[in-house]
Amino acid sequence: MAALEMFNLDGRVAAVTGGNGGIGRGIALGLTAAGAAVAVLARNHEKNQAVLDELRAINSAAIAVRLDVTDRAALAPAMAQVERALGPVDILVNNAGIAIPGGALKAEAAAWDRVLETNLNASFLLSQIAARSMAARKRGKIINIASEYSHFGNSIAPSYAASKGGLIQLTRSMAVELAPHNIQVNAIVPGWIESEMTAPMKGRPFYDEIIRRTPAGRLGTPEECAGAAIFLASRASGFVTGATIFVDGGYAIR
Ligand code: NDP
Repeated sequence: MAALEMFNLDGRVAAVTGGNGGIGRGIALGLTAAGAAVAVLARNHEKNQAVLDELRAINSAAIAVRLDVTDRAALAPAMAQVERALGPVDILVNNAGIAIPGGALKAEAAAWDRVLETNLNASFLLSQIAARSMAARKRGKIINIASEYSHFGNSIAPSYAASKGGLIQLTRSMAVELAPHNIQVNAIVPGWIESEMTAPMKGRPFYDEIIRRTPAGRLGTPEECAGAAIFLASRASGFVTGATIFVDGGYAIR
């Protein structure tokens, strides 16, 4: 196989949750540029349409599905909608995520539930739906967007760290179970990436501390997360499963 052919996603269908902004948008655009037909699934209709226009400028086979991933009853119909429009999902990117600040002493149980439901439970339920279809076709890729806080403690948002830590263990567990079905399950750990999630930190001392600690000396961009996603979505990663790829400018190694 020619070197670049390994990364070619022509004929593949990808679903990206939270694909209408930030890292998800960067990944959706990257997968589209590599040839995939991409569905973005997120709540905000205007943002969905804006990204859809960008995707269709590259490949007309793209759709946006309005979905709140915490609405469990809506998950299977949303995946069925993607399948009707584009074909069975070969690549699922569980990217939709939120963080709600609140240390353990003060956090509300409802906030804990919302974070866990969005970041972890929905990722499991969508992966289950996708994996059943992938297993029948003996081919699939599941990519979970984790976090540095999958590995580090976080006193500001323990619910976020717990959800992202769980996501790594879910990745490894599903990787073991699904390997015989030729389904690879991997995680990407973005470091500090410019997005709506990190924008509020700009100008604060914590932001300067991140820059100082990151060997690359800057935040990353959503587009810089796309390369790892294309690799994990493509034939090039056929023997890579249960892995975590850090896209973090070296943050985790310092
Ligand atoms: P953004 O806040 O920019 O984007 C979050 C995306 O998730 C939006 O598209 C949003 O769309 C979607 N989303 C949130 N809640 C739901 C929901 N209930 N149902 C469907 N979609 C939802 O964040 P980032 O791009 O920064 O983050 C993307 C992922 O990367 C997250 O999982 C985050 O934890 C992770 N990450 C980010 C890092 C960073 O530095 N930026 C670092 C490490 C990990 P909408 O509101 O329209 O639903």
